Amino acid sequence: MECVGARNFATMAVFTCPRFISLGRRRIMARKKQSFWPIHMKVKCSSGSESLVVDKENFADEEDYIKAGGSELMFVQMQQNKDMDQQSKLSDKLRQISDGQTVLDLVVIGCGPAGLALAAESAKLGLNVGLVGPDLPFTNNYGVWEDEFKDLGLQACIEHVWQDTIVYLDDADPILIGRAYGRVSRHLLHEELLKRCVEAGVLYLNSKVERIVKATSGHSLVECKGNVVIPCRFVTVASGAASGKFLQYELGGPRVSVQTAYGVEVEVDNNPFDPSLMVFMDYRDYVKHDAQSLEAKYPTFLYAMPMSPTRVFFEETCLASKDAMPFDLLKKKLMLRLNTLGVRIKEIYEEEWSYIPVGGSLPNTEQKTLAFGAAASMVHPATGYSVVRSLSEAPKCASVLANILRQNNIKNMLTSSSTPSISTQAWNTLWPQERKRQRSFFLFGLALILQLDIEGIRSFFRSFFRVPKWYGLIFAPSPRYLRLCCSAHQKYSENSLGI
Ligand SMILES: Cc1cc2nc3c(=O)[nH]c(=O)nc-3n(C[C@H](O)[C@H](O)[C@H](O)COP(=O)(O)OP(=O)(O)OC[C@H]3O[C@@H](n4cnc5c(N)ncnc54)[C@H](O)[C@@H]3O)c2cc1C
Repeated sequence: MECVGARNFATMAVFTCPRFISLGRRRIMARKKQSFWPIHMKVKCSSGSESLVVDKENFADEEDYIKAGGSELMFVQMQQNKDMDQQSKLSDKLRQISDGQTVLDLVVIGCGPAGLALAAESAKLGLNVGLVGPDLPFTNNYGVWEDEFKDLGLQACIEHVWQDTIVYLDDADPILIGRAYGRVSRHLLHEELLKRCVEAGVLYLNSKVERIVKATSGHSLVECKGNVVIPCRFVTVASGAASGKFLQYELGGPRVSVQTAYGVEVEVDNNPFDPSLMVFMDYRDYVKHDAQSLEAKYPTFLYAMPMSPTRVFFEETCLASKDAMPFDLLKKKLMLRLNTLGVRIKEIYEEEWSYIPVGGSLPNTEQKTLAFGAAASMVHPATGYSVVRSLSEAPKCASVLANILRQNNIKNMLTSSSTPSISTQAWNTLWPQERKRQRSFFLFGLALILQLDIEGIRSFFRSFFRVPKWYGLIFAPSPRYLRLCCSAHQKYSENSLGI
């Protein structure tokens, strides 16, 4: 039986020989796109002379639009589309998913750190894995605790290590964290994850996925741009935070907030920071904005990575805000701060626009499609970090998928009724009850941060860092974290009330 047909796959008959499908144009009956928007809206984002018209129909709903970048979408796209010619193209190294491809065990959608890691780990366990997504380089500057990357066997991907990390909250003594911090080489990380995919035999298609449809055979059909459909036994969405068109999120959860940061890597005169220390947070205020000003509305801190005495990566960061702090405001604050510190910029090597949705709802863990990475709400609600969690959970998630798919083998005999149980088991690995409870507590931390002004934030962190052995727990969720946060919050309340 030839595997082509109308594009309305929801009503498609059972496949007898599911294969990679190229749909002839004339056969397509496009299903009316489901839109949550009351009217077809186009929004104009602009910065200086550049502007971008955004078609909101491309997003599942308002929340999805905010996760994609909202009013800052143009900057988010500038960040994602930077040229990084040191990084290999996936399509040069990975074998292509070809026309006539038999049904794959797993398709991973999205080629960020989460997608590459999960694809590699799953293929290593013997699954036939296809990876689908635009062939883009890693463009973000990732920072990690050195020990965490060592534990992942990724120490060689760190390009610079500071033996200690420092926090300034006010003019009182700074806090030394006593933990080494590293800057990840995005090029080396990309090469390493790609190498793991090549070695494990991951197949690749350079395309954007438009829809995932369930066939009555029980297979999933991953429908890509260019009328290409890939049948597979299981799909995992790792297409970043704005994946609402493929996934359902719990209803009635908290609204997503946003961490924004504007960074510059620069050559400077008068760098006041010790090159042997990474500045994790500098909440000192040199500018003393008037309380009514827009700048004062958003408490921000400086994150600084001195690469040498004269070359520094400075980033002005708004830890979390209900409405994203605009990049132009962050840039203004950063330049004012550097100016007040006496730093003179001689050359700008790179600008960074970091937009990280934080908090928001968990994915609905009853749904048949699995998610991973930022798409699966794995971003820490109070810090915006997710890379280490995604990389460290990829082997476990892959092993659960491999076991379940093996149990459901004989290949191609997967029935519709077995899919929900595969999904449930996989979702339970990612989000067991204990993890969900921890996340609720992080959301509580986020809600607290959102309410605090700069003085409140300083006071909160002063209490937080006073709690013994707090470090590491910011990023490594554990039941102890809950107790520490409670304790910090209690101390913060006592301090504020003068008890
Ligand atoms: C500038 C910046 C700095 C950051 N720094 C840190 C940090 O230091 N530490 C940390 O832990 N986190 C950091 N984050 C936050 C977060 O960890 C990263 O965003 C991380 O890249 C998320 O990984 P991911 O693989 O889940 O998603 P992404 O990296 O967003 O990857 C998603 C991929 O899916 C692709 N895709 C999207 N739509 C489709 C589609 N329809 N079909 C197919 N593919 C699609 C995209 O092209 C992209 O390649 C940072 C974020 C930014 C923006």
